[in-house]
Amino acid sequence: MSYRHQFLDNSPCDLPPGKVVCVGLNYAAHVAEMKSKNIGEPLLFIKPATALTPMQEPLRIPEGRGACHFESEMALLIGQPLKNCKEEDVIKSIAGVGIALDLTLRDLQKQLKAAGQPWEKAKGWDGACPISPFVKTEGVADLQNVDIKLWQNGALKQDGNTRQMITQVVPLITYITQFFTLLPGDVVLTGTPEGVGPLEVGDALELELGSLLKINTGFVRSGN
Ligand code: ZN
Repeated sequence: MSYRHQFLDNSPCDLPPGKVVCVGLNYAAHVAEMKSKNIGEPLLFIKPATALTPMQEPLRIPEGRGACHFESEMALLIGQPLKNCKEEDVIKSIAGVGIALDLTLRDLQKQLKAAGQPWEKAKGWDGACPISPFVKTEGVADLQNVDIKLWQNGALKQDGNTRQMITQVVPLITYITQFFTLLPGDVVLTGTPEGVGPLEVGDALELELGSLLKINTGFVRSGN
């Protein structure tokens, strides 16, 4: 696997790429567009480390598996082990903030949901988590007031702010560590705002995380 975590300032990062713990349905407007219901607690799922891939490289969508949706999300790089953690331990354990795509094979996910099966095949495939370099957390004034924007071929499709999260970062990570130990190099994805949609071969995306970072993907290709 060629993916390594990187910091935006190019300082060395020796955190090994680990699992990606994700939360679904964490923005009310996205819950509504998915015609889903808020279930009252965070909906967690995991992408393996092999899903991570640099955002700047061409995105690849699996062939013959139906629609592949983009979901732009604030990503947090974990710098210290966390298990059953207290809220006050969370912020100091975050090493960096970035932006990721929770790529989702939407047709397959619908089939799996209807059959009562887990989602991994729809969300955990190789390359299903393109991710930007990380901004060190010291440089971030307030994690809960950051704009998230995504343009598809120049058209603005997602325009949210992390203040719209149903479960905010600190309680979310506290909740996660009641189920899964987070290790240095693991990543937490915090959910997508509304405006998700299908990627097509040849598309280029531009993503922005407030004033912290702006990044372009490579053109989308078929096959992974
Ligand atoms: Zn997502």
